[in-house]
Amino acid sequence: MKTSICEKILCTGCGACSNICPAGCIEMREEEGGFIYPVIDQTKCLDCNACSRVCPVNTAPSVNAAEFYLGWHKDPEILAASSSGGLFSAFADLFLAKGGAVAGVDLDCRTGELRHIVVERPEDLYKLRKSKYYQSFTADIYKSVGKLLKEGRFVLFSGTACQCAALKNYLGKRAEDDHLLMIDVLCHGVTSKKIVRSYLNGRENHYRKKIVSYSFRVKGNEGGWQNGGGTQVKLEFADGSSVIENRFRDTFFVGFNHNLILRESCYRCRFTGTDRVSDITLADFWGITTEEAPEEQLQKGVSAFSVNTERGKAALAEAEDAVYYRQTDPEKVVSNNLAFNRPQKRPPERDRILKELETNDYDTVIHRLRKKYYRGIRIKGILEKVIGSGRYQRLKDMYHRK
Ligand SMILES: Cc1cc2nc3c(=O)[nH]c(=O)nc-3n(C[C@H](O)[C@H](O)[C@H](O)COP(=O)(O)OP(=O)(O)OC[C@H]3O[C@@H](n4cnc5c(N)ncnc54)[C@H](O)[C@@H]3O)c2cc1C
Repeated sequence: MKTSICEKILCTGCGACSNICPAGCIEMREEEGGFIYPVIDQTKCLDCNACSRVCPVNTAPSVNAAEFYLGWHKDPEILAASSSGGLFSAFADLFLAKGGAVAGVDLDCRTGELRHIVVERPEDLYKLRKSKYYQSFTADIYKSVGKLLKEGRFVLFSGTACQCAALKNYLGKRAEDDHLLMIDVLCHGVTSKKIVRSYLNGRENHYRKKIVSYSFRVKGNEGGWQNGGGTQVKLEFADGSSVIENRFRDTFFVGFNHNLILRESCYRCRFTGTDRVSDITLADFWGITTEEAPEEQLQKGVSAFSVNTERGKAALAEAEDAVYYRQTDPEKVVSNNLAFNRPQKRPPERDRILKELETNDYDTVIHRLRKKYYRGIRIKGILEKVIGSGRYQRLKDMYHRK
């Protein structure tokens, strides 16, 4: 009888196995650190091996070389509501206008539930906007996409590269359907719902207020987008007040940006690099300077994105009324975005942190690492402020090239 689907340290929790199982005997369950893994009900397993075959860790799907662009949405409201340049919304609108469906990640702040859903009305698209930095529960999403394609509908699927790989394997030949577009958001790695919940509990205790809404991306604040103001936690409280956490001191971003709290498989991610599994890859154009876009735009958000297939190229051409875009130097994008290079490094403290989180609250565990991780962040922040983030990045690149 089958006991495992792939090597556990490589399992991405994508859920393709659970979607394909003809006996419905694979459940995705929270395990250590709150990360989800498949669990097989031995009493129902048919031993057909479909789960192992569909697994994108066991069967690597085809990839294509990326062509790099920069761009942003021309509608200021959509741009302001998006994480970076709002490209996702431009593609999503195309599909909805054709009577199609868009699959992406929705966050329910009341329960902390993060899951893939299908949106079919433009007024619901807001649910999918903005990067949520923990792993989404894919539920039956690959089944739903397959069903929609079978009905002849246009479908845009968005998720991380491992989730696009899962969909590609799940669909098999049907993944070549012209009605489908797969968009992956370039992924640094994901943390878990449980870890985010622990962080939020700490914030509630600190402020002595109930959090009713939270977001990992903020625009329109003083720092601007490019200077790192884009990645900050915003907390909204039940009394109507709100706060934006300082990104250099906030324990969530200390843990996330230093890779202290990522899923085990993220440190060994097979979907990084410039050969991509999807049609289009969306990223933040970190490190962009006024050589590439006007200063005003750097404050509002710019996407770096790659078009990886003919299907992607056709979608970009269709989106040209909504989006300003042009090709850009791949080196400028890749040098500032590790996920286009390789997986994140696994810090030596990672296991200890997960163990300590079983009995301690998140803030206490991260604060114990204050000496090692906070000093680096402060120096980076001061340097970026004094010399500007573009110049800081160039200095950093020169240093790393040495
Ligand atoms: C976990 C994570 C890590 C990331 N790491 C990097 C990085 O290291 N470097 C970089 O340049 N960009 C990274 N991004 C991508 C970036 O933050 C933007 O999501 C991307 O540029 C799209 O922005 P937008 O303005 O076009 O769209 P937005 O409107 O902000 O679109 C949001 C899109 O993200 C998807 N999404 C949101 N949360 C999740 C999730 N948890 N899992 C899967 N899909 C999700 C939605 O389905 C939607 O397609 C990351 C995103 C996520 C979710």
